[in-house]
Order: sequence, then C-alpha cells, then structure tokens
Amino acid sequence: MPYSLEYQSELVTAAGYLREAAALTGQPTLRSFLEKRAAAFASNDYYASDVAWMDLASTIEPTIGPYEVYEDYWFNYKAAFEAFITVVDAAETAKLGRFNGELQGLEDRLPIDKRFRRAKLGAYAPLRVVNVVFSAGDGNAGVQAAAYNLPNDERVVAEKGSKRIMLRNYQKAKFEKVLAPIGARVLAPADAALVDFDSFFTHALMHELMHGLGPQTIEVGGRATTVRQELKELNGLLEEAKADVSGLWALQQLVDKGVLPKAQERGFYVTFLASTLRTLRFGATEAHARGMALQLNYLMDAGAVHVDAGGRLAVDFGKVRAAVAGLTHEIMTVQATGDYAKARDWIGRMQVIRPEIQRLIDTLTDLPVDIRPEFVTANSLDPP
Ligand SMILES: [Zn+2]
Repeated sequence: MPYSLEYQSELVTAAGYLREAAALTGQPTLRSFLEKRAAAFASNDYYASDVAWMDLASTIEPTIGPYEVYEDYWFNYKAAFEAFITVVDAAETAKLGRFNGELQGLEDRLPIDKRFRRAKLGAYAPLRVVNVVFSAGDGNAGVQAAAYNLPNDERVVAEKGSKRIMLRNYQKAKFEKVLAPIGARVLAPADAALVDFDSFFTHALMHELMHGLGPQTIEVGGRATTVRQELKELNGLLEEAKADVSGLWALQQLVDKGVLPKAQERGFYVTFLASTLRTLRFGATEAHARGMALQLNYLMDAGAVHVDAGGRLAVDFGKVRAAVAGLTHEIMTVQATGDYAKARDWIGRMQVIRPEIQRLIDTLTDLPVDIRPEFVTANSLDPP
C-alpha cells in the first residue's frame, strides 16, 4: 500500500501547506523544492523533489519527507516521515568552504605509505551548516541527530551526489548540556579549562570531511575491492574511528599551516578527550563507543593521555601529536590492506573500557546523555 494512499488525508494537508509556503518565498530553488515535494506526497515518486533538494540555494533549508528506515525492524524497507526546518548559517558554511580547498593537500600528506594515498579525490559532498527552528516525526525521536546526510535514493546520489547538513544549534546544546559538564568532571583542571565549543564543532566538521579521504577502493591480492567489503561488520566502527582521529590529525595540519589559529591547538585535543568519555557512555556494545575505546586506549598506551594523581585524564601535549598520527596510520593501513583478521584481533583487544575509565564514567550518572529541543520560535507563531 503506497504511502500516498495509506496516509492520503495527512499528505494532502501537508502538501497544501508546502504550496502555501512556496507561494510566499521569493527564492526560486526553495519554491521549486516545496512545489515538487508537495507533488511527491500525491504521486509517491520523490525523485524530482530529491533532485530539487540537492539544488537548494536558499536561506531556509527544509528537509521533509519519508527518509530513514531504521524504524522498520523487519526489513529496513519502510521509511519514516520526518521534518527539519532549518536556517542556513552562512558564516559557518563559508568557513567550511575554506576547508574544502585543503582536502587534496591533506590527502597528499596522510601518514600512510604513499601508494595508499589518492592522487585525485572525488567531488566532495556539499555541506551546509544550519540552525534548526523546528523538527518533527522521526527527526525528533530518541537521540537527536546532530548531522545528517541525504538523500538515500541511490539514483539521485549517483547523479547529483548527496548533501551533509550539520545542525549547529543542536551541536551547541549538546556541548553545553552534556560535553562541557563531562569535561569539567573527568579532565585535569588545566585541561578542562581549555574545552570549548568551537573546537568541538570544528572537529565535528573535520570528522565529516575526513570520511571522504583515505583508502576506499583498494586492491587485495591483485583483486579490486573496497574497504567496506573486506572489513565486513568491522567497517563501520573503523571508519568512524578513522574520521575521528584523522580529523584531529587534519586540524593539527591546518594549525601548522596557519589556516587555523595556533591558540586553538590544545583546545582541539582536550575537547576531543572529553568527547571520548561522552561517547563511551553509550556502552561497550555500541559501535561508536567501541571505536572510541580503541582510540582512547591507543592514546593512553602511547602516553599521549594519562590518568593524573586525582584519577582525572590529562593530555601530554609533547606526545599527543605523534600518537594521533600513529593511530591514523594504523587504522588507514588496515583499511588500505583490507586486513580483516588483523582488524578483528586488534579491535578485540582494544575495544574494552579499562577500570580507570569506567571509574570516571561512573561519576557521570547524574548528567544527561542527550538533549530534548524546545522550539521557542515556532511555538510563538500563530497556529495555522
Ligand atoms: Zn562519521
């Protein structure tokens, strides 16, 4: 039963509002998306409106429709409806544009054997930094997404690529309500004083960009394959850990090059360290948390992070830089060689939460795990 029939009355109402909004905007790409998405609600064919969404160049960046399939526990086929109404943060989006120009240079300097580096990176996914003014449906259920990458339709992705949206005010709220209090409790005081939002957000951006760098299509025993295929169920965990740690490596490179301020250098490391504890709270079975344990344990073994006399974590700034490059090297080399057995053995040893870390996590039980947004602007508007 197509959604356009099953939910016909709701979708007719929603399409009516989209057309009203389309009539009110003077921005052609926004009008085009709203009209085409309204038509998709009736036809159940989202292709043209997904293309229009990729072409959006407007101050308001809406995402509305059936997208993610995680709610379908049977087959992951049925998408759930969601909506994000966001306003583009032009200044932060422009800051990103600057990073795009650095990506090939970063690839050329990756701390791996040079035969594993890519001479020419593919086109990068456009990235928008936005602030959310309203969300609903699947987009406002459970843990709040701080970024998303759409559309999911492979035809559109093949033709137009995909777009990453970073939700800056959500990131800020998560930082203020969760990460900053964690940092104040688990880090040595001198390190805790350096934790800051800009470091957190800039690293989150770099994490996204680094997904596009490093080995992807590889050769194993003369056979063309992909990292994903070779590393199987370990791929997601390693790819996320790669984006985290190589993101940190990349920030250091940009500090050295003068693209980012030298004054922020230490802030990147300590904010990342506080963030590892935030992720580890999700538990030792969760992929992101296991990947984070691997990173933290590696940094501790390298002496880049240690537990001080008071039981708190501290960064050794003399060692952290080499350790971050070393871990980037290890992960990317496993990916480049598609060495599943090595990855499984390594992750098996490194994904544990050690007692000194568990003790710190146990001190955080009264802090929130996530945020719940309240849309004060939207709530203040007259209901339709
Ligand atoms: Zn990621």
